[in-house]
Amino acid sequence: MKKRVFSGIRPTGRIHLGNYLGAVQNYVAMQDEYDCIYSVVDIHALTTLEDTHLLKDNVREQVIDLLAAGLDPDKCILFVQSHVPEVTELFTLLGMATPLSWLLRVPTFKEKVRLQPHNVNYGLVGYPVLMTADIVLYKAEAIPVGEDQLPHLELAREIVRRFNEHFGPIFLEPQGKLTNFPMVVGLDGRDKMSKSLNNHIELAATAEETLKKVMSAVTDPARRLRSDPGHPEVCNVYKLHQHFSPEVIENIAVECRSAARGCVDCKKQLGAAINAYLTPLRARRAEIAADQAYVDKVIREGAAKAQAIAKVTITEVKQRMGLL
Ligand code: SF4
Repeated sequence: MKKRVFSGIRPTGRIHLGNYLGAVQNYVAMQDEYDCIYSVVDIHALTTLEDTHLLKDNVREQVIDLLAAGLDPDKCILFVQSHVPEVTELFTLLGMATPLSWLLRVPTFKEKVRLQPHNVNYGLVGYPVLMTADIVLYKAEAIPVGEDQLPHLELAREIVRRFNEHFGPIFLEPQGKLTNFPMVVGLDGRDKMSKSLNNHIELAATAEETLKKVMSAVTDPARRLRSDPGHPEVCNVYKLHQHFSPEVIENIAVECRSAARGCVDCKKQLGAAINAYLTPLRARRAEIAADQAYVDKVIREGAAKAQAIAKVTITEVKQRMGLL
């Protein structure tokens, strides 16, 4: 029996290079080794979105991105969170065993309160409970996480322990599967690549859009003149070259340090390397997007497979809690 892995992907927009290098590549690699369940977590997105008119399209586009990136519905379960309503039932039931004080002390909740003081909704404080419901509904044993996400998983484990203490050993405590997700810095060179900061490159962008974005990237701030020696170790363009131009990376560093290469040419080279890398993925994406019946089928069948597991769990939970 393969170990079951669960991961959720927020549909806040199309998948960008940061998501791809930081997580999706790893999802694809895990499909052969693990029993993988991947969910586009659209209910989670509601906690921070105020305008939801794009949500449905974003979910669909994200499914297409994931398929183009290499997720294979014959090897993994790929589904949309809200299509399996048992997760909201379990969210409610787990909430009965989760002290409010645990949720109020979560650093990301405090951060969200700071960022969106006008929209501190109940869903936001319950976010870790819904996340726990996602994991345990499918009896996932391992959750791919970066080191920064371990505290979230620890809270999920605490909720599971508390629930098991009250109602008997129903759930496994999910374990973190530490992955070397690289943190991909955005084109501004400051923060993590993200759509909200507009410092990203979408996988589905055209070659021209990609090149234009790369040309706007911040480089070594100390390098003012073309003749100044550069410091590749602080340059974000260089970091992206490490992913997309590994065969010439040493050369780039040497030429940068000796000012034999200018930043404009260096960025053009990076843009070309990213485009060469993404060309097959973009072609696959166009094919998948043109076959809407196939996308519908993947979404429908993914939900059916996930729900078959969810129904068993929710029945067991209700029996243990005295509801059935
Ligand atoms: Fe960065 Fe390339 Fe400019 Fe060096 S030459 S600072 S690596 S963009």
